Amino acid sequence: MTDKQTKMKILAKQFGEIAKNPNMKAFFPDKTNPFIWHVSYKGPQDSDFQGGIYHCHLNLAHYPECAPEVMLLHENGSYNPNELLCIVGITHYHQEGWTPGTSIEAIITALQMLMQVTTGRGGIGVYTSLDQKQILKDKEKSLTYTCKCGANHAALFK
Ligand SMILES: [Zn+2]
Repeated sequence: MTDKQTKMKILAKQFGEIAKNPNMKAFFPDKTNPFIWHVSYKGPQDSDFQGGIYHCHLNLAHYPECAPEVMLLHENGSYNPNELLCIVGITHYHQEGWTPGTSIEAIITALQMLMQVTTGRGGIGVYTSLDQKQILKDKEKSLTYTCKCGANHAALFK
């Protein structure tokens, strides 16, 4: 296992990468727990989600050896809100599909890109099909979303 100090270094580097990415921003909802992250990210381009901003929770307690627990924190039209997601390669349900060293930026990018994918859906927490009306309604709401972590989507990415 990676010791705590090494873990903190790895997470600091990951945070730096996300800070440079104009499509996402990380927050810390619990100042006493550096392994719980919230990340806001933009909806994927050229999809019904484009223009929306989505907010997710990550538990990185066993990262980078193990995939994190990941869930979305509000209605979004693609993933069940407040349910830990099962996505092979990026979330904890399938550790055998996890590649240690996968960056948090890559995890968020996968979460972002997979929102709009219409085939092969239906893992735990993943809607089996997409409903455009729902997506557009949830997208509108996502733009004024606020979270106790400090995320305020009305003022984010401006
Ligand atoms: Zn938050």
